[in-house]
Amino acid sequence: MRAALGLGANLGDMRSALNIAVGYLIADPWVGQVARSSFYRTDPVGGPEQPEYVNAVAVVDTRVEASPIRTAEHLLSLAQHIENELQRVREIRWGPRTIDVDVLAVEQLTSLDPRLTVPHPRIADRAFVLIPWMEIDPDFVIPALGSVAEVAAQLPPTDHEGVRRLVH
Ligand code: ATP
Ligand code: MG
Ligand code: MG
Repeated sequence: MRAALGLGANLGDMRSALNIAVGYLIADPWVGQVARSSFYRTDPVGGPEQPEYVNAVAVVDTRVEASPIRTAEHLLSLAQHIENELQRVREIRWGPRTIDVDVLAVEQLTSLDPRLTVPHPRIADRAFVLIPWMEIDPDFVIPALGSVAEVAAQLPPTDHEGVRRLVH
C-alpha cells in the first residue's frame, strides 16, 4: 500500500531533524521502500511571524497486510512518536516547530475524522507539500483532487516562488 507523509521543521537543525524522521520511517516494521524528495527551503504559510521551513515529502510502501484505515492509524501514531522523540512542543497553532510529520494520503482512503483526516485537508493550498511530492510521485492520485502533478499545476505561480529546492 502506498502512502505519503509530509515533513517540516523550522527550529533547531532542520535538515538533521528531517533525516532523523526519515530514519524512523525506514526502521518501522510496517514500512518497506521509502522514497524521499529533496529538501526545500520554504516561506512559512499561516501562523505567526516565524523562520523559514525546511520541507520534504516521503512516499512509503507499507508491507504489512492491513486495511487502509489501520495503515493510516499506524502511520499517524508513528508520526506522533517521531514528533515526541524530536521534542516537538505545541504552543501556537501553525507556530514554529522542531518537526511536523503529517499523513498526506494512504492509497485511496478517505477519512473525515478530525483526529486523522485523510487525505490531509490542506494539500491543495500547499506548494511546500505539492512541489516536493511531485518530484517523487507525480502520478499518485489524491482522492477527490486528482494527480499530484495536476493539483500542483493549479497552484498560483507566486506560491512556487516560496518553495526553493536545496541542492545539498
Ligand atoms: P496542519 O494540519 O495544518 O499541517 P499542523 O501539522 O501544525 O497543522 P498538528 O499540531 O501537527 O497540526 O496536528 C494537529 C492535529 O491534527 C493532531 O492532533 C492530529 O490528530 C490531527 N490530524 C488530523 N489529520 C491528520 C493527518 N492526516 N496527519 C497528521 N495529523 C492529523
Ligand atoms: Mg502540518
Ligand atoms: Mg501536523
